[in-house]
Amino acid sequence: VDGNVKRLVSRFIGIKEPIDKPRAHELIRHQASLDIKGVSPAIFNQAIMNFGALVCKPRNPSCNTCPLHLKCYAYQSDLVNVIPAKSKTKANRLRYFHFLVLHYRDKVLVEQRNLKDIWNGLYILPYLETSSGRKPVAKSLTQKLQHDVGYDDFQFHHSSKISSQVLSHQTIHARFHHFMIARKPKPSHKHQCWVNTSALGTLAKPKIIVDWIKQGDVVIPWKTEMKTP
Ligand code: SF4
Repeated sequence: VDGNVKRLVSRFIGIKEPIDKPRAHELIRHQASLDIKGVSPAIFNQAIMNFGALVCKPRNPSCNTCPLHLKCYAYQSDLVNVIPAKSKTKANRLRYFHFLVLHYRDKVLVEQRNLKDIWNGLYILPYLETSSGRKPVAKSLTQKLQHDVGYDDFQFHHSSKISSQVLSHQTIHARFHHFMIARKPKPSHKHQCWVNTSALGTLAKPKIIVDWIKQGDVVIPWKTEMKTP
């Protein structure tokens, strides 16, 4: 149905539901099918489209001179500026995930998501969520590592560049920060486990982690030079 037709019909019969919803579409089609009876469909469509474009305009419709104003629901109810309604579009939320790639021998720590949030049930790496792509401050990293590993005896190795994944209403930016764990970590928390890096591919993971693995950043960099956090 043409946009001019939708606007005119929804104002005339008073459809308050968002115009882009199936229910509103159905009501408009039904009303148009009643009005069209006995009239050539081509002429009817052209006439109503012209009327919508010239009289029942999106802004400042010419209600005072409109021949329909006595029967028009929107005009009589002072809702001309409200109808047709549109669905509210959710703002896109930007989120920054800093995944911690904790290497202990040839293993890394993973955890299964168990939150009412994105990726529920999938396996991800331990992470800190912050408000930017900058590496989290040392204090936050230390606290997180103490929580997950049991001590703060670790060495920073390197960080990846930012990668992104677009979800509905959210854009996820991710960085992967590698740390070397020298001593045996404490038993992992519920929902966490240490897995061999070669077994990472077998776990169900979000696309952003799948892509990161494909890039080959899951290294075992024990013998390479290490840096301080
Ligand atoms: S009265 Fe106003 S809102 Fe109603 S059909 Fe006419 S121009 Fe459109």
